[in-house]
Formats: sequence, C-alpha cells, structure tokens
Amino acid sequence: MSENNTKLMPILTVSEERGDYSTINEMNEKFGHYCIYAIDPYVYVWKIRDNVWAMLAPCTHAVGDNWIYLVEGPEKAIFIDNGYGIGDLRGLGEMLTGKKCITAPTHFHGDHAAGSGQFDEVYCHKFCADIMRTRMNKESWDQFNHVGEAQWRPYYLEKDLVPYWCNPTALENHAIINLGEDYDIELIHVGGHAPGESCFLDKKGRILYTGDAYFESRDDMPGLGTGLGGPRPGLLHNEYQDFRYYMEQTIALAERVGEWDYCMAGHGPIDSPATVVTDTRDAIVAAVENPENYDEEVQGRWGIQYNMRRGLARVRYNMDVMLANKKD
Ligand SMILES: [Zn+2]
Ligand SMILES: [Zn+2]
Repeated sequence: MSENNTKLMPILTVSEERGDYSTINEMNEKFGHYCIYAIDPYVYVWKIRDNVWAMLAPCTHAVGDNWIYLVEGPEKAIFIDNGYGIGDLRGLGEMLTGKKCITAPTHFHGDHAAGSGQFDEVYCHKFCADIMRTRMNKESWDQFNHVGEAQWRPYYLEKDLVPYWCNPTALENHAIINLGEDYDIELIHVGGHAPGESCFLDKKGRILYTGDAYFESRDDMPGLGTGLGGPRPGLLHNEYQDFRYYMEQTIALAERVGEWDYCMAGHGPIDSPATVVTDTRDAIVAAVENPENYDEEVQGRWGIQYNMRRGLARVRYNMDVMLANKKD
C-alpha cells in the first residue's frame, strides 16, 4: 500500500451512543482481528461464516459507520448493502469469493446504496428502485455525504468514487434472489424507515439481514434504534413510511421468527439474536398504542425524539408525527 493510501486509511467514527467502538472490539474478539485489503482499503473486513463476510464502512460525515455483508452462494455472491460508493467493493468481493458479485440494497439511503453503480446487477424492492432512479447522481451523493460542510470527513481519494448511476431491477415483496442451486435469498418488504426498506432472508444460512429496520440496541446505546420519521414530504411512495404499515409488516415478520437464527443489522452490534425482530414488534406496537409512554428522550438530528424500548430493541420517533398518525 502506498504511503498516500496509508495516510488515507479510514478513521472510524467512535460513536459511543451507537456502540461503534465497542462493536469493533467485540468483533475482533469473536471473529479475529479485521483485515484491510489493498484492492479496497476503505472497509474493515471480518469473515463471520464459511460463506459470509461483514465489512464496516466508515461514515463520511461523523454520524456512524455502517455494515455491508457479502454472502457467497454456489454460483455467485451478493453484497447486501454496498456503502458510500467509495472504493472497489465489487473487486474485493470477487477477490474474496472468486465469483461474480451482485448487490441488493436494503433501502436507498446513501450509507447503504451509494455503491450500487459499480455492479451490473442491482436488486431491490420496487419502491427502492423507483427512488434510486431519481437519486443516483452527484448532487444527491454530495448532499448525503455533507460535502464541503463542517462535519464532512473526506478520508477518500476522488478517483476511488464509483459511478453514481444505476438502474436497479425492481422486485416485488417476497421475491427470491438465487445464488445458484438451492441457495435462495428472500426479499421481505417492511417500510417504515424508508419506503422501500426491506430485509433479506438467507434461507440456507438462516440469517436475516435487517438494514435499518431492526437493530440490537443495548442499554448503553440510546442513539441506536429504528428511526421512524413518518412519511417524508416529497419522497416517492412515502405512504409506506407510515408507522402502522411498518407495525403490520413487523407483526407478520415476527410470526416467521423460527426461519432464522441470527439478525445482521446495518449499524451497531451484529450477529444478534433472532428475537431482535420480536422485540422490535413489541416496541412499535407499544409506540403506536401509547406514544407518550416512551422510555427515553434523545436529541436527534431533527430535534427531540423519543425511544420506545422492548428487550434488545428501540424504535425512535417524533412525537407530533406519531400523534398525528394515531388520530387519522
Ligand atoms: Zn437508513
Ligand atoms: Zn443506515
């Protein structure tokens, strides 16, 4: 690695509120010390199963780092989420697996989907695809990454940014992505955090990849939880950000909890108990029924927000939106 690259090594966001620092230590203890590969020096890589890698991508604006997962099937491999669009992630995946890599973002947000443009095949829920077609451009990238603003952390080389544009294949709820033979990944749409927000169920590996829909949010991590802002004005399909829609989808998903053993989230601790989903169901039901009976108040980016906690889960909401939602 060149001297230049060494200076540009990612600096992780140490967000105690979201448990980033303790997460790295925990990962090192559980899976061995992370690797950084020359082909893409912008992610920290742990091999967490025989056919699964977890990669931590540092945030470009000091908010919190996020997880990218690489799952290898018999014929091809898939990146579930693909980070900020910095570095040759696809090349890294092809190096690690020796197979063609495709990708499936859980939702359109720039920490999960901005790397999509480097892949020939991008699969996501149809609402996510509609939104991505309007937002995979430099303007959206700069805005999400706070380019030029005080909190911007330009730790990367411009030449390592991947193409912005992509044209995702729009999937229906419960569509199957096949990785060869009988290795199937099911898309499960849940909405809430983003209109197209989806989980991906690796049926063979018995792992549910949960994006920003379900988190293992421990006692000392009040900043980590399912962020539910309600329908965002001007965003396509924003009716699927409705709290009750997310609640109904989560109740249905929780019924299927026997189909996976572990949850892998987009932020914070990973390799979490399957019950993260049932705990989140209990939290969102409580929040919709009685939002004023919250457990914690947190200062969010858009003012005061409220956490409802159940077990390992937190859901975070704006009180006025939740109350308005309750009345109509
Ligand atoms: Zn998100
Ligand atoms: Zn996220």
